[in-house]
Amino acid sequence: MVSRVIPVEPFDLVIFGGTGDLARRKILPGLFRRFCAGQMPKNSRIIGAARADMDAAAYQAFVGEAISEFGGARTCEDGTLQEFLAQISYQTVDIRGDNGWDMLKADLSGDGRVEAFYFSVGPSLFGDIAERLHRFGMATPDTRIVVEKPFGRDLDTAKALNATLATHFEEGQIYRIDHYLGKETVQNLMAVRFGNVLFEPLWNSQYIDHIQITVAETVGVGGRGEYYDKSGAMRDMVQNHLMQLLCLIAMEPPAKFDPDSVRDEKLKVIRALEPVELHHMVRGQYEADGDEPDYRTAVNDPRSRTESFVAIKAHVSNWRWAGTPIYLRTGKNLVARSSEIAVVFKPLAHSIFSTGEADLPSNVLAIQLQPNEGITMNVTIKEPGPGGMRLVDVPLDMTFAEALGEEGGDPPDAYERLIMDVIRGNQTLFMRGDEVEAAWAWTDPIIEGWQARHDVPKPYEPGSSGPTDSDQLMIRDNRKWREIKV
Ligand code: NAP
Repeated sequence: MVSRVIPVEPFDLVIFGGTGDLARRKILPGLFRRFCAGQMPKNSRIIGAARADMDAAAYQAFVGEAISEFGGARTCEDGTLQEFLAQISYQTVDIRGDNGWDMLKADLSGDGRVEAFYFSVGPSLFGDIAERLHRFGMATPDTRIVVEKPFGRDLDTAKALNATLATHFEEGQIYRIDHYLGKETVQNLMAVRFGNVLFEPLWNSQYIDHIQITVAETVGVGGRGEYYDKSGAMRDMVQNHLMQLLCLIAMEPPAKFDPDSVRDEKLKVIRALEPVELHHMVRGQYEADGDEPDYRTAVNDPRSRTESFVAIKAHVSNWRWAGTPIYLRTGKNLVARSSEIAVVFKPLAHSIFSTGEADLPSNVLAIQLQPNEGITMNVTIKEPGPGGMRLVDVPLDMTFAEALGEEGGDPPDAYERLIMDVIRGNQTLFMRGDEVEAAWAWTDPIIEGWQARHDVPKPYEPGSSGPTDSDQLMIRDNRKWREIKV
């Protein structure tokens, strides 16, 4: 079976920060792939905007290089790159000043098509862009704006940012991006849960022992040390990506698969999260590894108390999840790059086999998001061949990559999909303002508690699974983290 590509209507997309890292690595190559797949119509326009002084030809060359470096392996017919580049222009704009905005407006097609503005710049510029789009007559009721993370650094700043954007745009025009939500498997998680009769009846604390959500990276802070040290794993990963995954796994079935029904249910999950007890969290900082500096050296602060690892035992306080903890874990410089949600079911109530029920492995539904996307269900079967009823635990693979792959290559990556959703006007996979605020309202007291107690993160070895205290968090509950592996 081959998935269908449904073209979107022609659009104008302005990328503020069009020369930046995100535009180069993700947005522009992603748009090119959608163009190759036939999803982006040929008369659509992409306008890069930044302070650098360059003309359209120089920007097209920049985009061509970005595509050859980050374009991925997908094939495209000869000449397609030139056709794509012909749709690209550039406008020099100083977001903090008034230069370039009139020219930008004049460059828009202005024929009633969708106009989207991607804020791919530092968050301190979001308010300036919104205000100037309004002042220079580009904020119409049909305009869409795409806002990158981080969305605030605490509840107060997120509220202020929401209020600034709300001065110029309706909530229905604001697309707050969390690229985890654009992953194929995240959407498949909803399809598996709500499109099958098999899972939903078991999706509660009666049958599920616990859930583990792990987002592990092998890289350290790299060149982002200064930024990262002001944020830490809690703000950089838990408040947004892990929280979004937790919502999708724990939410009630929405009445419909429409943006507000889904986001209403996610919001209820965040609001049902209990405050986290002190002994239910572990923070860590990675140590040195050969020539690689330790965390404190990497961020150039020998006294830094910011965490590069965090593990949390969370509880969603409602009827469905009472008694079933959700363990969250994320960190840098860990043993493998792997993002996974594992739903671990309870042991059998009674075993008819000579193996006692306690010795039978639990069923596990594992949803891998990174580096390879896929869903596996571990089930117990009889080991083939003679030798009596010997039982083995085997994965039932639900990846279906080949069966469902798009014609000519892989399915779209998260950014490609999300940008096309912006053009279609579908906000289901974007965070609503109240969701972001609720997530900060849960996160803030945790961070404030660490600061008030002058909490010092535990050291951990690079290439490990985090501090040993993180293992203890599970062992105390008679449970075990799943191995972090690709
Ligand atoms: P970046 O590499 O520093 O690029 C910033 C862009 O903004 C450049 O194009 C820069 O061009 C432009 N810019 C800066 N000040 C400007 C001004 N006053 N007026 C007009 N343009 C201005 O940043 P990035 O890594 O692309 O990140 C962009 C946003 O995406 C940030 O919010 C970041 O947190 C978020 N994000 C990035 C990644 C990633 O992988 N990079 C991942 C997730 C989220 P000029 O200097 O020429 O003006």
